[in-house]
Amino acid sequence: MVKIAISMDDAWYSTLNHFTSSMRGCKEHIEFDTILINSEERNPFLKERLEGETVCKNAHSLKILKDLAPEDLFIVIVDGDLYDAHDHEYFYVGSRDYPTISAKYPRVSIFSTYYLNPQSRFTKETKKGEKKKMMSSIQDYKERILVLTLVDIITSELTGLEPHEKTVGCVMDKCIKRSDILNALIPNLHFCDECKEVVLKSSTGNEIMKIIEATSSLLKDIVEENREANKMVQLVAPAIVGRGLEFLFESGREILKARQERRNAEMTKSAVPPSAPAAVPPLVPPSVSPSAPSSVPPSVMPSKNKEIVNAVNSKDDPRLQYVRSSLTKMQERKIEHDVQLMDQYVQDFQITQLQLAHFGPGTEPLQLVNQKNELEERVETTMRDLQETLSAVYNVTINIPELV
Ligand SMILES: [Zn+2]
Repeated sequence: MVKIAISMDDAWYSTLNHFTSSMRGCKEHIEFDTILINSEERNPFLKERLEGETVCKNAHSLKILKDLAPEDLFIVIVDGDLYDAHDHEYFYVGSRDYPTISAKYPRVSIFSTYYLNPQSRFTKETKKGEKKKMMSSIQDYKERILVLTLVDIITSELTGLEPHEKTVGCVMDKCIKRSDILNALIPNLHFCDECKEVVLKSSTGNEIMKIIEATSSLLKDIVEENREANKMVQLVAPAIVGRGLEFLFESGREILKARQERRNAEMTKSAVPPSAPAAVPPLVPPSVSPSAPSSVPPSVMPSKNKEIVNAVNSKDDPRLQYVRSSLTKMQERKIEHDVQLMDQYVQDFQITQLQLAHFGPGTEPLQLVNQKNELEERVETTMRDLQETLSAVYNVTINIPELV
């Protein structure tokens, strides 16, 4: 059994989940998994420019840290400019590309989403005036480019096939020109006769063919979803909006509030000499004071926020109808994505809290404390996103004091 592990990335959460769950039919010999990477582990991959060979070595260290076997394939998604001595800006590189390290650091690949960056050569070479158009079409195609590239990486790694220069409508077309890339995104993926022969002779040939089949139908779904994305949703039950609000105003907010209280307490502790605690003024503005009640009563919530919560709580409220008619499919998907993330983070946060509760003050293991801090950061980022989308849905500015 070979495992294909892909680093989980908040920006690609839905697409990666969609991709790995589409591959269930290939379970016999290949297992798909996504791997969460914390911010410390992510550090080596955050640079603006990433040298291919070095970043493959870094990915291999992480592969070992995550207990993956040598034959498992580990794919790390980055967003920096992936380059090496011969060229720069690759969609992907793998340790296979570097003969001097391939044996020692086997089966790691790096996929870069730098093509979405306006500085990317991919858009820089676009004729004047076309850049904006090109960027927006790439944005539309980004999920498909990710899926297709993952399939390219997996096929290359498991069969040894190399992409071919000639564009013949095959999965392994190198696709150097933009037009080739866009043409390659058609849902009916297939191999040319030569590549097919190599694939079928390989030990995982049948699985690769299943992966191609599953990817074709996944690409069709994505095309359909994108087509629907900007249409208005007419009669959608806004349950997902309610869940987004719930995370924003309740569980997510509680986490941030507790963090703020903890930080304030720490600041007070370090700023105040033990002999004169009363002389120090409060360190935070009264609106976010640590002495505020842990659950803010609706009366002190900004009035627009209160209206929104009421609108969702009352089925007959006309503002609910307003949300129904103004929520776009795209906004619905964004909220859904953030709600999924929040679900996970809040759950993980609660587990971490329970684990930390076993230790007395000052004796908590550093790893657990870091994990908690990391989850708080992720909750904050996701809540900012939710705040922005829900503000657009309701056409008001939603203010969460902890996010100011
Ligand atoms: Zn081919």
